[in-house]
Amino acid sequence: MEINKVESFRRTFQLKHTSAVAYGSTETAENVVVKLTASNGKVGWGNCAPDEYVTGEKIEDTERFLTDAAPELLLHRDVGMLGVLNDELLRHGARTPAACAGLNIALYDLLGKCAHLPVYRLLGACRSSILTSVTVSLVNLDDAVNLAQEYVGQGFRALKIKIGTTWQEDYERIVAIAGAVGKEIELRLDANQAYEPGDALALLAKLEDQQPNIAFLEQPTRARHIYSLKEVTTHSTVPIMADESVIGLKDAFVLTGEMIAHLLNIKLMKCGGITMAMKMLAIAEAGGISCMIGCMDESVISIAAGLHCALCSGAVMYADLDGHLDISNDVATGGVVLKDGHLYPVDAEGFGLTVHL
Ligand SMILES: [Mg+2]
Repeated sequence: MEINKVESFRRTFQLKHTSAVAYGSTETAENVVVKLTASNGKVGWGNCAPDEYVTGEKIEDTERFLTDAAPELLLHRDVGMLGVLNDELLRHGARTPAACAGLNIALYDLLGKCAHLPVYRLLGACRSSILTSVTVSLVNLDDAVNLAQEYVGQGFRALKIKIGTTWQEDYERIVAIAGAVGKEIELRLDANQAYEPGDALALLAKLEDQQPNIAFLEQPTRARHIYSLKEVTTHSTVPIMADESVIGLKDAFVLTGEMIAHLLNIKLMKCGGITMAMKMLAIAEAGGISCMIGCMDESVISIAAGLHCALCSGAVMYADLDGHLDISNDVATGGVVLKDGHLYPVDAEGFGLTVHL
């Protein structure tokens, strides 16, 4: 099926809660929605959510790639040749992985619709649902505890707790939240690069007495200081996850091969889409490393794509696909079903999305 039209639409999404991590906070999220139309009239939807802090990609870079390069690469090409189209997109768009991810997602949505299959069935699923965490931002302690309780009341079983002040303050935060929600709720800690190795190890050692239900500590140290991350990994009793240290395929190879972290957080917006994420998952699997599929603040369009990807690899142990929940003016509905903290795909062609632009 030939691609006849490539369109993109920038949107500013309003967040219901302040999104705050160790390095900054925001009330909005800039995304670009991608629309591909095929010669049979079918439409594939994608979405781009660049994170300049993590990949260096500005929203203007994303837009430029979508308007200047993408039509030239995709127009009059066969969507069934997705593999080669994706290679070409990534070759030209190495510095705009979110733009490539949005296009890759739209190609998969279109391919699913042409094949009359949900994408997770097209790829071959390993499971039919996955538990997701929901994020408690680095806001003041009372607000964080209230938010944690509110999320548990809504049925979430796993909380991503943003930390990264001082390890002593973070300790108080974790203990307060753990006490408020109870031991059956899984806590996933994310320091967003804020620590030196000694801080991370001091925090984890102090937490041992309390025995909170901690699944892992994510990115304690600076992204490019991978041997600091390895130092924490080597001495930690809690699994350590790399996030900002693992952007694309080569990072997955190096971090897995050199045992820099116990776990990898793979995000479509960092690596360029589902095709690349599946390759990274295969590398991790070869090294015995489990992964999480994570996200940015992004439309349910790309969250659905993250879910379908997470359902299709045995190397995925965790999902953190909550980016759409906090958006008050998303352009799409459907795509995922949230029930008791688990995400289920919609059994419709492609990603099962309805988009209102
Ligand atoms: Mg993270």
